[in-house]
Amino acid sequence: MKPEFDLCIIGGGAGGLVVAASGASLGAKVALVEKHKLGGDCLYYGCVPSKTLLHSAALAHSMRNAARFGIEAHTPRVNIGAVMQRVASVIKTIEPNDSPERFRGMGVDVIFGSGQFIDPHTFTVNGRHITAKKFVIATGSRPAIPSIQGLYKTPYLTNETVFNLHENVAHVIVLGAGPIGLEMAQAFVRLGSQVSVVQRGAGILPKEDSDVAAVVLEQLRNEGVNFYLGHTPMQVEGADGDLRLTVQDSDGQQKNLHTTHLLVATGRQTNLESLGLEAAGVGLNNGRLILDARLRTTQKHIYACGDVAGHYQFTHMAEHTAGVVLRNALFHLPAKVEQRVIPWCTFTDPEVARVGLSETEAKQQGIAHKAYTFPFHDIDRAQAEGATHGFAKIITGPKGKLLGAALVGPHAGEIIHEYVLALSQRLKASDLSKVIHIYPTLAQINRRVADARLKEGLTPMAKKWIKRIFQLRG
Ligand SMILES: Cc1cc2nc3c(=O)[nH]c(=O)nc-3n(C[C@H](O)[C@H](O)[C@H](O)COP(=O)(O)OP(=O)(O)OC[C@H]3O[C@@H](n4cnc5c(N)ncnc54)[C@H](O)[C@@H]3O)c2cc1C
Repeated sequence: MKPEFDLCIIGGGAGGLVVAASGASLGAKVALVEKHKLGGDCLYYGCVPSKTLLHSAALAHSMRNAARFGIEAHTPRVNIGAVMQRVASVIKTIEPNDSPERFRGMGVDVIFGSGQFIDPHTFTVNGRHITAKKFVIATGSRPAIPSIQGLYKTPYLTNETVFNLHENVAHVIVLGAGPIGLEMAQAFVRLGSQVSVVQRGAGILPKEDSDVAAVVLEQLRNEGVNFYLGHTPMQVEGADGDLRLTVQDSDGQQKNLHTTHLLVATGRQTNLESLGLEAAGVGLNNGRLILDARLRTTQKHIYACGDVAGHYQFTHMAEHTAGVVLRNALFHLPAKVEQRVIPWCTFTDPEVARVGLSETEAKQQGIAHKAYTFPFHDIDRAQAEGATHGFAKIITGPKGKLLGAALVGPHAGEIIHEYVLALSQRLKASDLSKVIHIYPTLAQINRRVADARLKEGLTPMAKKWIKRIFQLRG
């Protein structure tokens, strides 16, 4: 029997929506199954609310520190309820882009409910059997909850509940010092809460070089965040507004931390349970989908994209992997997931942006490399804006080919894109040195750090000749 649809997508978040919209616009007959609301984590519990919250927090921080800029400082009166109302209103403004009406208007059959495969070619939801030539699993991820004694019976926040807070938070302990934990820690400390961060590992932002992470750590400490690094959460008890967390350091010493709120940000877990993957014959390894480079599962007509499909759990990766799935599933073009040039940003202040190899990775992988840095302190625009913490770092091969870049500083997430292009085009540091950068911009740091490599790259003979020319000219 002919399948009813060309494409059936399970999960209507960042990845699933791109596949659905593009598939329908290309004339495919598309079904989209969503168990909750179209839009997914990014819109409701992730990127959009977190960046909106951080913006309010930045404003409060600026008010407190206005005297540095010649303006009378104020201790802002923060109303968390009103701040979260603004978060909700930003979500509401963006929401129509992901509305079921919009997708139905494109010809997509939007079906609400959560279902499961009953065989490799049939997904059943609300009693309806959906047959399709190709399936796409795009069910995203949720907060991974660590097994801490007492946690299951104690109230705690995650990214799925924190944006619903109505009352001010006196003290929040954040479990986890990755991007989500640190963004939330800075947001709450700037909004007037006492904030502590508990991290099992010895450092924060474990994917970044330690000198990069150190800049963020110093800034957050200066803003009043307490860090318990190398501390393992052992036990939690108490009730709403009165919690006690017991942590243990690497020497086995325990201490009790008291708090009003606990926010769990200890990683992500993919949503793959209850999809009937066994009935579909889709293989898993350690709870993760087994995928080839074209994002096909062990059933070649069932694909995956977004957070379920890889280690880089970002909205832009969900969009990228959605594109890979489309090219493979609809056009039968052998498209593969980008592995080399993947940028990301942690939106603390200062921001941390990365693309390509870090210095640590280059060392670990035994890749011949050199690292060059340039401080924001020496960038005039950074001085003008009083945002001088941080630096740019590039990693190059022996002949100057760019291998990676990291920026920790103001607007790092915007400035990094020059390196994204440079890496994708396999350029050298000297190519960046040749480009005129507008004065005074923060992006000038990209040229300055490349110049550092250029200066070093001059041969002794070239240096001798330059000296001679200057001597001749007096
Ligand atoms: C606090 C936070 C901040 C973040 N900030 C950023 C950021 O600044 N930049 C960035 O790039 N990324 C950020 N991310 C990551 C980003 O949100 C995710 O990478 C992105 O949403 C993944 O898209 P996705 O399509 O895989 O999953 P999602 O967008 O989560 O969509 C999955 C969808 O599948 C649905 N679903 C789940 N199970 C089923 C089922 N059984 N049946 C039917 N439907 C189902 C869900 O309801 C959901 O709608 C952040 C994440 C968090 C948590």
